[in-house]
Amino acid sequence: MQSTMMNAPLTTTAILRHGSSVHGSATVRTLQPDGSVKVGTFAEVGRRAAQLANALRGCGITGDERVATFMWNNQEHVEAYVAVPSMGAVLHTLNLRLTSEQLVYIGNHAQDRVVIVDGSLVSLLAPVLPQIRSVHTVVVTGHVDLAPLRRDGVTVVGYEEFIAAQPETFDWPDLDEHSAAAMCYTSGTTGNPKGVAYSHRSTYLHSMAACAADGLRVSCEDRILSIVPMFHANAWGLIYAAFMAGADLLMPERFLQAEPLVRLIGAEKPTIAGAVPTIWNDVLNFLDSNPGHDVSSLGLVACGGSAVPLHLMQTFEEKYGVQILQAWGMTETSPLAAIAHPPASLDEQERWRLRATQGRPVVGVELRIVDDAGHELPHDGEAVGELQVRGPWITGTYFGEEDDGEKFHDGWLRTGDVGRIDSRSYVTLTDRTKDVIKSGGEWISSVELELLLAGHPDVLEASVIGVPDTKWQERPLAVVVVREGREPTPGQLRAFLEGKVAKWWLPERWCFVAEVPKTSVGKFDKKRLRSLHADGELA
Ligand code: ADP
Repeated sequence: MQSTMMNAPLTTTAILRHGSSVHGSATVRTLQPDGSVKVGTFAEVGRRAAQLANALRGCGITGDERVATFMWNNQEHVEAYVAVPSMGAVLHTLNLRLTSEQLVYIGNHAQDRVVIVDGSLVSLLAPVLPQIRSVHTVVVTGHVDLAPLRRDGVTVVGYEEFIAAQPETFDWPDLDEHSAAAMCYTSGTTGNPKGVAYSHRSTYLHSMAACAADGLRVSCEDRILSIVPMFHANAWGLIYAAFMAGADLLMPERFLQAEPLVRLIGAEKPTIAGAVPTIWNDVLNFLDSNPGHDVSSLGLVACGGSAVPLHLMQTFEEKYGVQILQAWGMTETSPLAAIAHPPASLDEQERWRLRATQGRPVVGVELRIVDDAGHELPHDGEAVGELQVRGPWITGTYFGEEDDGEKFHDGWLRTGDVGRIDSRSYVTLTDRTKDVIKSGGEWISSVELELLLAGHPDVLEASVIGVPDTKWQERPLAVVVVREGREPTPGQLRAFLEGKVAKWWLPERWCFVAEVPKTSVGKFDKKRLRSLHADGELA
């Protein structure tokens, strides 16, 4: 029997309509270079989104053509987020920290037609642009010299000029909810970056999961500080979730260092924030060395992208009244797939233990672990295997790529993450397959060593990689940044680890550096560390 329900497609258009009308007085607040905050309402964003859609149509964007953004987190970027998919085109958020080669590859692969670029990023885009042959129009925000972008066959125009004369309404088309709304490329730590195309439906469902109480609890009482860049996995869904719930959006623009972030939090009092652990580590370090700042408005901080050290969560909570919530996901999973909310019935110690895991799947997402032969392993908290995931907002393929079974298996996405799942469905990741350290035929978890070292009072950050060893095949090398004024010896750090991990896990190789190199999305760049070691630069 067919249901009697109406068929109302789940689209970004529905999110845009709801946000800009029901929550028309909610605001997007963007930090400006002079420290002030520029405020626009969702109603205004809705009107400007209509103008942008009209202007894009006027410059020839039809069907599902790609409109790329090369932007920081700000109001114009939010306008593109809601306008581009809702007009039927596909929003492609370019990661502005990628290399020129990667950007050229991605732009051509996605066949971007228009690029909207921040004025402050013109010099980064200019050398790349001539090589992205599909682009016919470049729209630039802010008041900057457009000359470096000009060339034959390409129209270059300022954003305000582009939208100014356009009507403030747009005839948003009826869209198939399964059609593509937005694209993100993985950062391509191995091989070429791969494209993930989110559908309208997946975006809608994912945003609802973000709003849910056991998700990120986004409501109309919230103000969300999106530190996570809008080019990193859809800003973790925070933008559309804000439009659904009517939460204010607070945008740090390009000011992502600890000091401006802490000042912004103090002045604007966000209640929810999202960023990778390295950012929170910097913020904590700043707060500790600059007493007197108040960040306690933050009721919930979503943190993921790499493992979140327990001590980081505990210190934030005890000293600054901020709850950090660990989440796990990937570009391929929209990204919210698991969240570490502990059940209320458990005691304090058990709750902390679960909060230090990568969490359990949010409703709609299924997780399993499999062995090398592809057999499913039990969820007993002991068996270790590769994590696989499926669900309505998990990609089932890569854009324009044939899969030979390497990334997809039997209707599941192979994540490349290795870990265990316990009887309550909490996942603990021990490594990424490419980072696992194989010593004497057994695995050492680089992540576990890193998390433990992060808890040493003298350690600011620590990354562990496997390096070749003639006897054991590989051994761990700990790359450590120490806190100012501290001088721990390798022996002391080893002693700190003793008893916490198996004896044969203890690194005998240590290297002290000023900074651990980071990837384009702020994670420890282990590929770079391995190549530095191979070149003899990590003694
Ligand atoms: P990249 O591949 O460039 O790191 P993604 O953001 O898509 O870009 O990375 C997804 C990966 O990040 C996951 O496969 C996992 O290895 C890691 N990750 C995400 N969240 C966590 C977490 N909470 N703990 C440990 N690793 C995580």
